[in-house]
Amino acid sequence: MQKNKPKIIAFANQKGGVGKTTTTLNLAAAFAEKGRKVLILDLDPQGNASTGLGSLADNREFTTYDVLSGGTVEDQYIIKTETPNLYLVPSTVDLSSADIEFAATKDRSKLLSLALENSNLNFYDYIFFDCPPSLSVLTVNALIAANSLVIPLQSEFYALEGLSQLLLSVREIRSSGNPDLRIDGIVLTMFDSRNGLSLQVEDDARKNLGELVFKTVIPRNVRVSEAPSFSMPVLSYDTKSKGAEAYRALAKELLLRPK
Ligand code: ADP
Ligand code: MG
Repeated sequence: MQKNKPKIIAFANQKGGVGKTTTTLNLAAAFAEKGRKVLILDLDPQGNASTGLGSLADNREFTTYDVLSGGTVEDQYIIKTETPNLYLVPSTVDLSSADIEFAATKDRSKLLSLALENSNLNFYDYIFFDCPPSLSVLTVNALIAANSLVIPLQSEFYALEGLSQLLLSVREIRSSGNPDLRIDGIVLTMFDSRNGLSLQVEDDARKNLGELVFKTVIPRNVRVSEAPSFSMPVLSYDTKSKGAEAYRALAKELLLRPK
């Protein structure tokens, strides 16, 4: 029997430092723990997801740059991480010039979606894109190739400000290249329940965005921030930590969303 195509989820927010990479790799690890095969494509030139999963910049033979320029995901591009069921195509700083480099390319916003169409990735249940902190050509490629979007939102004062711009971009992407792009949800990250501001942001987000906001919030947890320097998701680094438990709960919620 032919396996279904993987569900493709982009993790995006044009703001930096809001928890995109942390959410991409820990949610992927939580899915992997539940037996799902997950492939992360690191689309951020900074390569934090790659480093956080143990891929050293100097050892990256193939990267997402090859995916975009070569138009396919070859098996040899994919690294098996230390976490069972979790796979990675790392990034490279070369991606930082993607805007300029692909400017004259026909279908420059569809390079990623075409590359995925040209590849047989049915081995995987999920493909996750860790996006850069901008609405650059890389993020647009991700949103055009994805089935859905998860938006990490840091629980701080200006959190909701950038969101309207992102939602506007989603509308543009729907009308230009990917009419079926869904928002699977908005996840509050680095939440501190002793901080009135966190509670206020949560309250505002739930009032304004309703069901779009995941019930699970990700607490600020030092184990989460330590894990990448040990090249592993927090689910392996400290499996019983509050951060690990929160990502498991988020995975459970996300699994209930349509495929
Ligand atoms: P982005 O990918 O959006 O730029 P990151 O995922 O890299 O954001 O997170 C930014 C910083 O915040 C990192 O240093 C990360 O370790 C830290 N961080 C993210 N989530 C948490 C959390 N729940 N608790 C503590 N630190 C966190
Ligand atoms: Mg990041």
